[in-house]
Amino acid sequence: MVSETEIERRKSATIMMVDDEPTTLDVVEMLLRDEGYERILSLADSTQALDVIDRERPDVLLLDLLMPEVGGLDILRSMRAAEELDRIPVIVLTSSSDPETKLEALGLGATDFLSKPVDASELILRLRNTLSAKAYLDRLAYTDELTGLPNRSAFIERVDLALRRARLEGSRCALLRIDIDRFKHISDTLGHGFGEALLKTFADRLTKRVAEAAPGRRSPLLSRVLGEQFALLIPGPDPADAASRTGHHVLDALSDPFVLGEKEFFASCSVGIALTPDDGEDVESLLASAGMALSQAKRAGGDALGFCDDSLTARSRERLLLGNQLRKALDRGDLELHYQPTIDLRTGRVVGAEALARWQDPELGEVTPNRFIPIAEETAVIDRLGEWALDAAFRQCKAWQENPTGPLSIAVNVSNTQFRSAEFVARIREALEKHDLDGRWLVLELTESAIMEDPDQAAEMLLAIKDLGMRISIDDFGTGYSSLSALKRFAIDELKIDRSFVMGLPQDTESVAIVRAMIALAQGLGLEVVAEGVETEEQLAFLKRHGCHRYQGFLCSKAIPASEWPAFLATFE
Ligand code: C2E
Ligand code: CA
Ligand code: CA
Repeated sequence: MVSETEIERRKSATIMMVDDEPTTLDVVEMLLRDEGYERILSLADSTQALDVIDRERPDVLLLDLLMPEVGGLDILRSMRAAEELDRIPVIVLTSSSDPETKLEALGLGATDFLSKPVDASELILRLRNTLSAKAYLDRLAYTDELTGLPNRSAFIERVDLALRRARLEGSRCALLRIDIDRFKHISDTLGHGFGEALLKTFADRLTKRVAEAAPGRRSPLLSRVLGEQFALLIPGPDPADAASRTGHHVLDALSDPFVLGEKEFFASCSVGIALTPDDGEDVESLLASAGMALSQAKRAGGDALGFCDDSLTARSRERLLLGNQLRKALDRGDLELHYQPTIDLRTGRVVGAEALARWQDPELGEVTPNRFIPIAEETAVIDRLGEWALDAAFRQCKAWQENPTGPLSIAVNVSNTQFRSAEFVARIREALEKHDLDGRWLVLELTESAIMEDPDQAAEMLLAIKDLGMRISIDDFGTGYSSLSALKRFAIDELKIDRSFVMGLPQDTESVAIVRAMIALAQGLGLEVVAEGVETEEQLAFLKRHGCHRYQGFLCSKAIPASEWPAFLATFE
């Protein structure tokens, strides 16, 4: 009796045979077909053997030992030296009863022996044992325990093979990376066990969705590559289309709430898509490109698909390079903070300054923050950059306390990634202690999106920051999506009207309406309101007339180094 699994295994297993005698090849092939094996590769020319093995990655190799030019032992030796081929079981066919040769073959990692002429029942028995042992070992080595999906090694190996096949066939593939949004936070707040349960349920839904999205196709490769990161390979014929369809299905996979134990819970995920050959030709570069597309989708707020097209990959490459340079610049101390004054419109006095990072690179020249901050965020350099900025600003603040030749209060920009970190508040506290500073001389500028990403946690963090005596300012106000009323619940002190609105003053009616509404809102909530990017007297007059409290802008001064502040103050007073 042959079991269902066994029948399936025989159908899908690739058996390769290398033997210089065509009759042996014919006989064995016939025997195998009779037993239900379908994928059989027979090769008489042993000089081609390694190429074919490498390309086809058979599940088992039947290998003759005595062949002209390249012998079986040579092939075996090369296979065992190649990491990707090392796991393929090899059954050696030998007419020689010479124990020396057998021992040598064993020493080289032969799995089993068959004597020639080949006996049918013996062949079938050996094959069956070898294949089921391999299936078992593969399952151990290649399966992610938690979700039952193929793991990262399995993914890399299979995708590598699929990509090479596709290249030979002249077809294309899409690689998708799928991340659960804010997973770390979910698992930190709701507990590790909950995180695992979520991963498992997500994996099940994903499997179902992926199968639904590609009915009847050559099966797409889905795997869990790391933590909350999954990946999927979709082979041609129209991978871009299939990828975006599957991508949307995948996003849907999380749209229903998760019911885990007593809790009902919503989550979302993001998907990054890379295509061959534009975004990469091998697994590693495709994974990297899809990763870039993924962080784009995440930056857009998550729950989104990100494609990476040709140009984007060129840009991503540039970004990677710039990320490395930035890391070096931090090491070398090429970054500096400049300070832009803030003027109180009620008194006409300088009341503080905003610290803005400046990067003068020996090779690249001046790199603007609008270029390097986003790169820092993507390449995880932001943690170090953020620490550096806090440290440098706090040090300068202390210096100005002791020798008042600059503003008393300093505002520091905080990136969303920094704010997301669980240690953020602790770091601020440490920095205050390190520089022996009173928190009331410091302002943190946060964006709306940083706060709205996880309002509950943000509310808590803001309270902890207020406890340190610091003030909180909402930067770029008006460019996010937060509802005005949502702001009430947060312990914030100040709104900064984004430059894009100030720019239209006083002619553009829309800007006028928005700025007036923001000022009124701030006043209603008892918040300070600061206008950014004031460049003209008309803008200034408008803001003053409508009761804006403070402003910054080139009209007064751009950001200047600390060393220029005494001269600035002297001319300003
Ligand atoms: P931001 O926080 O909105 O900073 C204001 C930006 O507007 C600064 O650009 C400033 O130089 C510029 N600006 C000020 N007044 C005027 C004006 O009158 N006209 C015009 N056209 N521009 C004006 P900058 O320094 O290039 O910084 C760009 C952005 O980079 C900042 O926007 C901030 O989001 C980010 N950034 C800068 N330094 C840091 C930092 O240390 N940490 C973090 N996380 N982000 C930073
Ligand atoms: Ca700012
Ligand atoms: Ca701004």
